[in-house]
Amino acid sequence: MKLEITPTICPYCGCGCGLNLVSVNEKIKGVEPWKRNPVNEGKLCPKGNFSHEFVNHKQRLKTPLIKENGKFRMASWDEALNSIANKFKTIIDEDPDLIAFLSSARCTNEDNYVLQKFARTVIGTNNIDNCAALCHGPTVSGLNLTFGSGAMTNSISDIEKSDCIFIIGSNPLEQHPLIGRRIIRAKSNGAEIIVIDPRYTPTAKQADLFLPLIPGTDVALINSLMHVIIQEGLEDIDFIENRTLGFEKLRDIVKNYPPESVEKVTGIPATKIEEAALMYGKAGNSSIIYCLGITEHTMGMDNVMSLSNLAMLTGNIGKEGAGLNPLRGQNNVQGVCDVGALPFLYPGYKKYVLDPVREEAECQWGCGELNGLPGLQMVEILEAAHECRMKAIFIMGENPVFSEPETLKVKESLLNLETLVVQDIFLTETAELADIVLPATSWAEKNGTFTNTERRVQRVRKAADPLGEARADWQIFCDLAKVMGSSLFSYASEEEIFSEITKITPQYAGMTWKRLENADGLQWPCPSKNHPGTPVLHMEKFATSHGKGVFKPIELRSLPETPDEEYPFILSTGRVIFHYHNSNMTGKSETLQNESSLSFVEIHPEDADKLGIKNHEQIKIKNRHGEIKTKARITSDIAQGVLFLPIHFLDCAPNLLTNSKVLDPSTKMPELKALTARIEKISG
Ligand code: SF4
Repeated sequence: MKLEITPTICPYCGCGCGLNLVSVNEKIKGVEPWKRNPVNEGKLCPKGNFSHEFVNHKQRLKTPLIKENGKFRMASWDEALNSIANKFKTIIDEDPDLIAFLSSARCTNEDNYVLQKFARTVIGTNNIDNCAALCHGPTVSGLNLTFGSGAMTNSISDIEKSDCIFIIGSNPLEQHPLIGRRIIRAKSNGAEIIVIDPRYTPTAKQADLFLPLIPGTDVALINSLMHVIIQEGLEDIDFIENRTLGFEKLRDIVKNYPPESVEKVTGIPATKIEEAALMYGKAGNSSIIYCLGITEHTMGMDNVMSLSNLAMLTGNIGKEGAGLNPLRGQNNVQGVCDVGALPFLYPGYKKYVLDPVREEAECQWGCGELNGLPGLQMVEILEAAHECRMKAIFIMGENPVFSEPETLKVKESLLNLETLVVQDIFLTETAELADIVLPATSWAEKNGTFTNTERRVQRVRKAADPLGEARADWQIFCDLAKVMGSSLFSYASEEEIFSEITKITPQYAGMTWKRLENADGLQWPCPSKNHPGTPVLHMEKFATSHGKGVFKPIELRSLPETPDEEYPFILSTGRVIFHYHNSNMTGKSETLQNESSLSFVEIHPEDADKLGIKNHEQIKIKNRHGEIKTKARITSDIAQGVLFLPIHFLDCAPNLLTNSKVLDPSTKMPELKALTARIEKISG
C-alpha cells in the first residue's frame, strides 16, 4: 500500500486554510490537519474536512463534449479545440469584442492569469470578468478610492490583537469558520464584539452588542456612529490631519445623522447606536470585518466607503489589531483580481487605458498592439448576449445560470449565443447549455497558487493524476492558443507561469516558487526577493498616488424596492456552514449533503403566525421578478418583516427572484441582499 500526504489549500472559502490530502495507492481518500499552516493551525470546518469527497465523484467530466442536434457526444481534444478555434477566428475577423470570458475564483492564479492573457493577446478583447463583480466588486472599487488598494488591510491572526471587533453584514462563524475561531479567541482575550445583522446569527450570539439593522440602511447607521464619535471628541485628530484628505466635508454630512433620527431609518434604538459608537471609538485597536451583507447592494460601494471613513476617523488603519477587513467568499477571489481577470485592469490592478501600461504589457508578453477599449462587466456581458450583441462566451469554472441575477434571463442570454464554451469539472446547469464542454482538472489534481482573503499567496499541490482526459485549466488555454497560431503560451509548468506573474504584478514581485514552499506563503505586497511580505497595509502611508487616505462623504440612498402592501417583506440571502457557492462541489459530497441538502426560508414567528404558516410547511415566495417554492423555517433569529434564503439550492435559487435592471452605477452590482417579497400558502 502506497500512502502519500500532500499539503495543499482548501478549495472553498477565502480563509485559505491549509490541509493535507491523503492518498492511498494514488487515489485520494481523505483529509488530515496541516498544523504548520498559519491560517488555521490544523483546524478545519466541515467543508474543509470533507473537501476530498467530490474529487472522484462519478459525475466528473472526463472527455470533451460537443453538442449535436441538442445532444452531447464525446469528442477528442483535437476536434473540440479546432472547432472552438474556427468559430473564434470567424468572430475575431468581425470584431474581437463580440467574444467574452468568465474567469473563476475557484481556479488558481496561474489558470486565471493565462485566461486573461489569452483573451487579451489571442482574441484581442478586454471582455473578461469574474464572480467578484457580484460579491466584492464594491470592495475593490471602494477601497481603491479611499485607501488606494482594494484588499483586506490586516491579517487573520491579527484579529486576536483587537480590543473591539465591529462585524457588519458578515457571519464568519458560518461563512468563514476559521476566522470565526479567531473572533472567539479575541473575545476570550477580552475584546468587545459588536455585530450588526438582520439575523441573530451564530456570530451575533457571540456579540456584546447586537444591532439588528433593517437591510439597506448601513450608510445611515455608519454616518450616525461617526456623528456620535465626533460629538464625543473621539476622532483621531492627529491621524486625520497627517494621513487623510477631505475630513471637513465628511464632518458636514454626518452632522445630519443624529442617532434619534437614524433610529427610525435603521430600526436600531438611538441608545444602542451611541453605545456602539463609544465601544468602537474608545477601544485601543478596533477592527472592522465585513462581507457580502455590505457589498451585495446597489449601494454596495457607498457602504464600503462609509466603513473606510469610520476606520480613518478613529485612526484604526495601518496598525495591528485594527483595519478594515473584507472577507472574500471564494478561495481565490483575491487572486483572480490580482492577476488581471478584470474588464478594466491588467495584472497588479494596472489601468490599461493608459498607453504606457499597455506598451509595458505588449513588451512583456511579446505581443502586438493590445486593445485599449474598456471591457464589459459580467452583467453587461450577459445583457449584451441577451440583446444579441455578443456572439461567444468562454466560461471557466463558473455557473452563471445559478449565480447571476435573473436565472431565466441568463439562460435566454446564453442560448442566444452563436458559441458557448464551458470548461468545468462537472456538467453544471450552465455547461448543459454549452455547444462545447471541456473537462478540467479539480483542485486536488492541480499545482499552482491561491491568494486568500488576507492577501496570502499559498501553494496548491497536486495529490492525484487528472481523471480521464481532463486537463489543467491553464493548459487548455495554452493548447487552444497553439491551435489558433499563437506562440506566446509555451509554458512548461505552473512555476513558469507564476514567475511571469511576478514580473508583471508589482504586488507579487518578490515572490518565487521556492519561497512559497514555506507553509507561511507570502502576503502581498512583497516587492523584492528579501521582503518578508506585508501583514498590515498602510502603516506609513496609504497606497493612493499622494499617500493619503481619502474621506468620501456619503448620503444614504434608497433601495430600488421597499416593502409595500403587495410585497411586505425584505428578502435577504446568504450561506450555510455546510455548503459553498452554488454547491457544485459541496453538493457532490455525501457527508455534507447528509448534513444539509434542502432549501428553506427563515421567517419570524409573529410573521408566520399572521400568515397561518407552520414550521416546515411548503410555501411560495413571490416577488416582482419571479417565484419559488420552499419550506418555512420559523425562528426568532430573524427580524420581523425580513426573510432569509440560502443561496446554495438550485430548486429555489434566490436568483429566480433577483433583478439585473437596477445596478450600482459604478460597480454594476445588482440588489441581492434587500429584495421585496411576499409569502403565499400553497393550498391543498
Ligand atoms: Fe475551507 Fe474555509 Fe472551512 Fe477553512 S474555513 S476549512 S478554507 S471552507
